[in-house]
Amino acid sequence: CDTLEKANLFIKSLSSPASLANYVAGELELPSSPQTRFIDSFDPKTGNLLYKVLCTQEADIETAIGHARTAFKTWSKTPRVERSRHLRRISELLEDHRELFAVWESIDQGKTIDRARVEVDRAISNFSYFSTYILHEQTAARMIDGVALTYEHRSPAGVFALISPWNMPLYLLTWKIAPCIAFGCTAVAKPSEITSMTAYLLGVLLRKAGLPPGVVNIVLGDGPTTGAALAASPSIDGVSFTGGTQTGIAIRRNTAHQIRKHLSLELGGKNPTLVFADAMQPESRERTLRIAASAAFENQGEICLCGSRIYVERAVYKLFVAEFAPYVATKYILGKTMGAVASLQHYQKIRGYLDLAAREKATFVIGSVPAVMDKHDQGGYWIQPTILTDVSKDSALQKDEIFGPVVTISPFEDEDDAIRLANDSEYGLAAVLLTNDAARLRRVGEQMMAGLVWANCWLVRELGTPFGGMKNSGTGREGGEYSRDVFTVMRTLHLGT
Ligand code: NAD
Repeated sequence: CDTLEKANLFIKSLSSPASLANYVAGELELPSSPQTRFIDSFDPKTGNLLYKVLCTQEADIETAIGHARTAFKTWSKTPRVERSRHLRRISELLEDHRELFAVWESIDQGKTIDRARVEVDRAISNFSYFSTYILHEQTAARMIDGVALTYEHRSPAGVFALISPWNMPLYLLTWKIAPCIAFGCTAVAKPSEITSMTAYLLGVLLRKAGLPPGVVNIVLGDGPTTGAALAASPSIDGVSFTGGTQTGIAIRRNTAHQIRKHLSLELGGKNPTLVFADAMQPESRERTLRIAASAAFENQGEICLCGSRIYVERAVYKLFVAEFAPYVATKYILGKTMGAVASLQHYQKIRGYLDLAAREKATFVIGSVPAVMDKHDQGGYWIQPTILTDVSKDSALQKDEIFGPVVTISPFEDEDDAIRLANDSEYGLAAVLLTNDAARLRRVGEQMMAGLVWANCWLVRELGTPFGGMKNSGTGREGGEYSRDVFTVMRTLHLGT
């Protein structure tokens, strides 16, 4: 299909699920080998088969990389004004088709349509932000003792593998594609096999936008076959990856011998939310409940930045639990303001943790252990928002990234105790602080072992700020000049006078 309208009608008209195509060298293509395996992709809200995803094999991946390499020769030398124009055109086209992308994102991932709209808007911003960012870059030259003039010269770093997860499919994929091509690199991108629909539609859109063939190629497939071969290919100059920590470790291991390969790894989290007593004063209480609840349950808790460990100062612990539970129960309603979790496999994982909670005799303040589900067509993957108390700090419930609508609440004694508990994690992605004490915000905020700290807010983003984690939550930062560092190589020139 060469237009989004046709693609949409085509997908809707199918009586039996068909396979989505790769987008390679400006064309939508099915695999070259008849032996190619197809993966079933399901509608999380019904459990019905939605479409098939081809699992691209090494030979087709290398062909896509070859096209990206050929395109790099021209694209890397294309004036930034022209590259900027291409990005702007993509963002405008995406805006024109906002609703189509949002509807498919919601169907494919299980999220609510409102949430999907927010993410499509952010995808639009990814392209518009970097379309202007590259126009304003400047390089400063310095004179060294009158002997040499020195300056930093950057050039596009090459062909990138861009690999993204299923929780915010279009937003996270475009968060990589936009800066990659803005800074003159070319890409072979791979979305998650669980949510490939908006990546497929993006391929159709890029074609319509007139982006030169090969600048962006999108290959579909699973992690062990397609993702692993793409990341490890010796023809790839860098990998920008967002996903789980274990996958990040595998990518690092598989590319360990390729020292030149630049790796940017955005990985998992198990983020704390700290509620200090003053945040439960009547004048701030609604804000505290709202932020703690959205940090825990937005997108079914399937956001790497979700605050899934809530710690509350003991003086207001009982009050917080008593107010938080009805607040969540009325604001997060399955099928209305909260969607289904993304896949059967993920449902089973979350269910396993809730089963563990029951075995460990945690208190289910709201929520319960959902039904066992061992096959797809059982009405969708729905899990109630769940609040657990009386959970040991050493329990896997407090240590592992559950990545679902499950939050633990525990008390803390004082500021030092709060900091210790918050930092007691292998992860270090994000933290939320809720207090009206400005001095405390700074004091505690600066001691959080987390790449992103939000105080009295959550998920507020400006695309120039550095995004990334500490500890097992990743290496590198992306956003504005930090994305420039990922996608360019720098040399320092000294020109003798
Ligand atoms: P995942 O690691 O299983 O998969 C992510 C992507 O990697 C998918 O496209 C997958 O096909 C691919 N992949 C899997 N194995 C691979 C391999 N060996 N080599 C190369 N690619 C491989 O993660 P997921 O389950 O899709 O997503 C959830 C995870 O993503 C959570 O841990 C979440 O915290 C994390 N996440 C992090 C951020 C962040 O910015 N730090 C943002 C969103 C999600």
